[in-house]
Amino acid sequence: MKYISTRGKAPACNFEQVLLTGLAPDGGLYVPESLPRFSESEIASWAGLPYDQLAFRVIKPFIDGEIPDDVLQRILSESYQTFTHKAVAPLRQLDANEWVLELYCGPTLAFKDFALQLLGRLLDYVLTRDNKKVAVLGATSGDTGSAALEGCRHCENIDLFILHPYQRVSEVQRRQMTTIAGDNVHNIAVRGNFDDCQRIVKAAFGDQSFLPSDRQLVAVNSINWARIMAQIVYYFYASLNLGGPLRPVSFSVPTGNFGDIYAGYLARSMGLPVNQLIIATNRNDILHRLISDNEYSLGSLEHTLSPSMDIMVSSNFERYLFDLFDRDAEAVTEFVTGLGHTPQKLKPDQWLRARELFSSLGVDDDTTCKVIGQVYADTEFLIDPHTAIGVHAARVCNKDSSVPMVTLATAHPVKFADAVEKAGLQYPDLPEHLQDLLERDERYDVLDNDITAVTDFMQSRL
Ligand SMILES: *Cc1c(COP(=O)(O)O)cnc(C)c1O
Repeated sequence: MKYISTRGKAPACNFEQVLLTGLAPDGGLYVPESLPRFSESEIASWAGLPYDQLAFRVIKPFIDGEIPDDVLQRILSESYQTFTHKAVAPLRQLDANEWVLELYCGPTLAFKDFALQLLGRLLDYVLTRDNKKVAVLGATSGDTGSAALEGCRHCENIDLFILHPYQRVSEVQRRQMTTIAGDNVHNIAVRGNFDDCQRIVKAAFGDQSFLPSDRQLVAVNSINWARIMAQIVYYFYASLNLGGPLRPVSFSVPTGNFGDIYAGYLARSMGLPVNQLIIATNRNDILHRLISDNEYSLGSLEHTLSPSMDIMVSSNFERYLFDLFDRDAEAVTEFVTGLGHTPQKLKPDQWLRARELFSSLGVDDDTTCKVIGQVYADTEFLIDPHTAIGVHAARVCNKDSSVPMVTLATAHPVKFADAVEKAGLQYPDLPEHLQDLLERDERYDVLDNDITAVTDFMQSRL
């Protein structure tokens, strides 16, 4: 399996190379040169498999023998053993044909654990085998950071640098990162927003000359292909548990960087019958404006009750554009770099194709709280604000009530106390393994919103 860049000016790579990097050298994102396709009967034969064994079948073609099968199986089994629910990704029913897929049973209580428990172990295996050291660098809007630290902190060959926007993540989110001890763990609060953090990370990847010569940067954001790959699995899992592939399923996905929903798009492209894919955003709604009005333009970043989706420009959308533009790398480059100075538009036929597949909705904070309250009143089930946005979009955008509609529940409500309290509900208890979180010692550095401030800091710690 070869991986190529969406900007068309970087050499093709194998799996290990894309695992150990971030952006392609031309600024693009890596995608598989071609996707594996599974037949309906093959998918049907996976019904009833435990999560890790299903993951093995879905992921294997992407790794293409670079990691021996028995090692991959062991790594997958260990990755998903850290989850507290035996089903790993349990489904919960909200209404006659409406479901949520609970993706927050991992160690840090958000869906990011699905990818980062695996990524940490894959990195550890490859780095130990090759006797190599790397620096992991990531920006987080709140949940990636703790999941990456939790997934990689035991790896002796990794130093971890995680940037979060200063005072823009919830207290539980911050403490989940800053209370992790370890000489290889470095939390940096940047005086800026998430897009600033993401910009600094991209710039550091673009020029790695500040690193010691034997080091390279590895991404833990969803620009890393391995993260997307891991997330494809739960679309198959949910479908198989709802009668797929013999009947289609629809998904509503709370969206920030477009990673999670892009994994759903890939699952569909690999043969899984998916009816609708719904892009559910908060007021940072650039993708909703594109799907509904063919307007792709920057706004100002809004801070909302769903901070993990407070993202202006969704990195992974470029991967989808690459397909939508029939893999014309030049057109992709023009579209995504053009956004910096002028609003962009899709060609009419492209817009039509995008709208055939994706529905979208932007949801404000008031509605988010109302939906949290409503779902609780109807089912005694407490959902987090990101999930609430997904549930609302699912209800508004549903085109066919006979198709099961699954909203991805991306985080546990305990991470987002503000929204739960604004919804007039009682704040849920922290789970057992985090009971003393608010008393633990914190460790982090606050730096200016400046690339050199961050790279100098990293240099001093490596
Ligand atoms: C990261 C995150 C999202 C957004 O996922 P993307 O892959 O960036 O679209 C949504 N909800 C929660 C809770 C998250 O942590």
